[in-house]
Amino acid sequence: MAISSDPGRPMRVLVIGGGIGGLCLAQGLRKAGIDVIVYERDASPKGRMQGYRLRLLPEGEDALRDCLPRAAADLLTATSNMRYKHGWAAYDQQLAPQWTPTFEDPRGDSADSMGALDRATLRRILLAGLDDVVRFGKRFTHCEQTGDGVTAYFADGDSATGDVLIAADGANSQVRAQLRPDDKQTDLGVRTILSRTPRDKALKEGLPDVLRDRTVYVIGSDGFHLGLMPMVFRNRPREAAAEMWPGLEFDFNDDYYMSVFNSHKDVLDIPDEKFFAMSGEELRRVVLDRITDWHPDLHGIFAHADPDETYPIAMRVKLPVEPWGTGNVIPLGDAVHIMPPSGGFGANTALRDATALCRGLTAVAAGERTLEDAVKEYEAAMVETATEAINMSLAIAKWSIHVDIDEQGSASSTANA
Ligand SMILES: Cc1cc2nc3c(=O)[nH]c(=O)nc-3n(C[C@H](O)[C@H](O)[C@H](O)COP(=O)(O)OP(=O)(O)OC[C@H]3O[C@@H](n4cnc5c(N)ncnc54)[C@H](O)[C@@H]3O)c2cc1C
Repeated sequence: MAISSDPGRPMRVLVIGGGIGGLCLAQGLRKAGIDVIVYERDASPKGRMQGYRLRLLPEGEDALRDCLPRAAADLLTATSNMRYKHGWAAYDQQLAPQWTPTFEDPRGDSADSMGALDRATLRRILLAGLDDVVRFGKRFTHCEQTGDGVTAYFADGDSATGDVLIAADGANSQVRAQLRPDDKQTDLGVRTILSRTPRDKALKEGLPDVLRDRTVYVIGSDGFHLGLMPMVFRNRPREAAAEMWPGLEFDFNDDYYMSVFNSHKDVLDIPDEKFFAMSGEELRRVVLDRITDWHPDLHGIFAHADPDETYPIAMRVKLPVEPWGTGNVIPLGDAVHIMPPSGGFGANTALRDATALCRGLTAVAAGERTLEDAVKEYEAAMVETATEAINMSLAIAKWSIHVDIDEQGSASSTANA
């Protein structure tokens, strides 16, 4: 597979999707001096929310450090989550301690590691310095592959041609829909209400000490599960940027708790058409209604959850993970390996993909290897790491959210098993 019919012409990479994986890759390629353009469907960097806080594993952190300029990685570290005073803990719905999960983290308590990041802050920093690289308002519709290139077409009638196209357009990938129409995702049946509560309001409401400075799982015997995660900035983004990157602006600057309220849809007992049409306020009331019997200390967090930042999601998985084998169209992140958020592996895996693909494409651009070889090696490693991540996320979903998946890929609730 040739990269270009003109060997003297530098390689051009088109990235579809300016999310976590696509932007990390773009930063890495830019750092390596490779011509890259990102096409993002959202009209502006603000975009939609897809969650608030991200747990970062050492692999995800390494990928960010590999791809980003030093100043950007330093700003991420400075704005990362404060290390918890009390670690993690699991309770039942009356706040009786169950057990404390142990997660080995080779970074320990190191002050220069990231641990967890605010998603909006991460996106802003991933975009920093890419003004001439990212094109907003470009919804990819389809592509055409030729012998030595690929042309992407967009909903506004525009098109772009490059040597390689990266499908980084997330869980509902349009690139996948075109090139891998038979790929199916399994609905795990889990319905989630995600919300954010400002930390100052939760504390004012009297959030007890045990829930304050740690990630808490409440595993109800009634089939409901709550994850509560604090995001307490080591340094607030605006203040950190004023010192470390003057001119970089942040819309969001305040500490919060992210809450993730899960149950199987049979336990939740709200038809999907109704659930996904509910307003943030209605969803907040659903949570309060379902936890009336829970310990009163658990109610306060939802009394102040912001209705504008409360929304429903469904958990899906794609197994097995497969190489696409689509030549100069290469997938990364959720586009190729969707998994439930349990445990926090999806973005970490997308970041790993980004750094691996960046290495491969850099070697191709330097003429050190063929694109075919580089893609084969990248996809083989991606399949292995993503399969491992999916299995871990499913194992966590099984004990926490009571959902299991059989060998045929069908999901069922184990809440009352
Ligand atoms: C509630 C929740 C909590 C999570 N917590 C964690 C966590 O703690 N740790 C973790 O590792 N993972 C977590 N994840 C998973 C993580 O968010 C995803 O795995 C990650 O965002 C995937 O990155 P990506 O770049 O593949 O896709 P995305 O970040 O989804 O980016 C895809 C981009 O493509 C754009 N796009 C889509 N279609 C088109 C189109 N047709 N044309 C142009 N652009 C398009 C989208 O607008 C978007 O910007 C969580 C997920 C959820 C829902």
